Amino acid sequence: MSEPSRPRPVAHMVTARESQEGAGFPVRRPFPGHERRMVDPFLLLDEMGPTDWAPGEAVGAPDHPHRGFETVTYMLEGTFRHRDSFGFSGTLRPGDVQWMTAGAGVVHSELPDDEIVRRGGRVHGVQLWVNLPAADKWRQPRYQDTPAHWIPEVTGDWGRARIIAGQALGAEAVIQTRIPILYLHMTLVPGGRVELPLPAEESAFLYLLAGSGRVEVSGARLEAGQIAVLGEGDSVSPACPTGEERPADFLVLAGRPLNEPVARYGPFVMTTRAEIERAFRDFEAGRMGAIPRQE
Ligand code: MN
Repeated sequence: MSEPSRPRPVAHMVTARESQEGAGFPVRRPFPGHERRMVDPFLLLDEMGPTDWAPGEAVGAPDHPHRGFETVTYMLEGTFRHRDSFGFSGTLRPGDVQWMTAGAGVVHSELPDDEIVRRGGRVHGVQLWVNLPAADKWRQPRYQDTPAHWIPEVTGDWGRARIIAGQALGAEAVIQTRIPILYLHMTLVPGGRVELPLPAEESAFLYLLAGSGRVEVSGARLEAGQIAVLGEGDSVSPACPTGEERPADFLVLAGRPLNEPVARYGPFVMTTRAEIERAFRDFEAGRMGAIPRQE
């Protein structure tokens, strides 16, 4: 016998603010906002674009450091090239995910690939920042570059779910996380509805991607660019209303809160201000390395 599920209400709803990142590419950022509210263990969510770049105009984020957390990049359209101070490089194509554990420190660049720079094109993706427990902030950096075809997909008459992290709908992700995280990309057809169990102790939210139709969740109706942070309970049942013109296209994130102090500044997320100052000193002294250049 299973207990009846307790649907989680929408605790607050926020419309992403528009901002610019890196060398000047547009992002929608549902959090943190001006109030610096985070959804522990998640630190930041940026939807990059979609942007239609003209030839010669596409920009990304040239060489910059990170320490103390993880960046998770999910490409939807277009191609990004990644390089770092360990000499690692890779290409992210639509549907691919890069889960990068910055740990003790890395310098990297995230740029549209040469083809998009030269000929123009559309870039659309999502970058999530996940905090690391204090004990893991000094780990060796690690990458989980995950091509689209490794990411489990579950389909039904309700639509499609891509399981980026965690387990849902009978499928389990290939990406490993330091703390329990659920990361789903859901596409619900009009009239489609699905029930997802969510561990009661985990922070959870839904975010609607650009171009999405509306979604109904616990009596609230969300539009593209809006986030719904969920309150207490142990399940959520998003639905795309019947008669909606477009499918509901959204992310579902849940994670166990770390409940640790957070000191953050720019690309560094540590637990004390002294550690942030040390991160700047280490970066400026070249102790996080530099990206090797081909002559
Ligand atoms: Mn970065």
